[in-house]
Amino acid sequence: MSISENLQKIKSKLPGQVCLVAVSKTKPNAAIMEVYQAGQRVFGENKAQEMLAKYEALPKDIKWHMIGTLQSNKVKYIAPFVDLIHSVDKEKLLKEIDKRAKANKRIINCLLQVHIADEESKFGFSAQELLQLVYSGNLGKYENVRIVGLMGMATNTSDESKVTVEFQSLNQLYKKLKSEYFTEEGNFNILSMGMSQDYPIAIEQGSNMVRIGSSIFGSRNYP
Ligand SMILES: *Cc1c(COP(=O)(O)O)cnc(C)c1O
Repeated sequence: MSISENLQKIKSKLPGQVCLVAVSKTKPNAAIMEVYQAGQRVFGENKAQEMLAKYEALPKDIKWHMIGTLQSNKVKYIAPFVDLIHSVDKEKLLKEIDKRAKANKRIINCLLQVHIADEESKFGFSAQELLQLVYSGNLGKYENVRIVGLMGMATNTSDESKVTVEFQSLNQLYKKLKSEYFTEEGNFNILSMGMSQDYPIAIEQGSNMVRIGSSIFGSRNYP
């Protein structure tokens, strides 16, 4: 199947309220343009400089989402244009995003990444760290950052019940924060969970944003 056929097939399986982020990391501009021409406008990248190069070369109505671990010293590359950062995993990073957003006279939308998998390799706040940060009141200091939801990655396993429980726990945390802290209507609305391998389970568990790469673009040689 072609890339655009893959895209159509996935879109036909997504409920209307679920936003698709086409994860184009490592893929060439020509492949991105094929997906763009099939109507897709939201793309995800995991490296700041690669995202910047693609932003400069490709149509300006693309919404670029940063989904990978972001080092503070790389925020400057994407701050002028990034649409959503999924991978905020430290308060220090939030501080830097706020500073760069201010310098660009923007407010940058961010998700807090939560570590739900039992793999060390995945980044993010633990549920407890996240609650501590939120209830510390410190988030209010970052006036040029808007926290709009949570992101998480499940363990890479074929054990579907394990993946289900992990996504469920993230959804519970999301609902708790939405009802107890981020109560302003319309501000905290994104639950980003699900990739090629596990997005149907993520949607069952309440995801409204999925990040799909290999099922659209084909497999990658490196992560
Ligand atoms: C690479 C990546 C994806 C997409 O993975 P696929 O298995 O190719 O769909 C999703 N989320 C994050 C954070 C990623 O790094």
